[in-house]
Amino acid sequence: MRKGRLTFDNESCKGCELCVTFCPVEILYLDKDRINQSGYNLISVTDMDKCIACAQCAIVCPDSVIKVEEVREA
Ligand code: SF4
Ligand code: SF4
Repeated sequence: MRKGRLTFDNESCKGCELCVTFCPVEILYLDKDRINQSGYNLISVTDMDKCIACAQCAIVCPDSVIKVEEVREA
């Protein structure tokens, strides 16, 4: 099973939630408790271990906020 790890360029995020909509395992959400310097709420991850490294979130993000790396398990 492929697993992924995400890193976010948070200052570029505009809180549009496209990534939330497209994640097939529904682990992304708009976090009302986190905000960037532009005043947008940020995306948080509920359970990183469920990420399948499909990269849909990164592909749909209009601002190239998300980087997906595949984690190779021993
Ligand atoms: S890489 Fe795929 S599974 Fe992982 S957070 Fe992005 S859309 Fe969801
Ligand atoms: S798609 Fe990109 S800009 Fe939109 S909420 Fe997700 S990370 Fe932020």
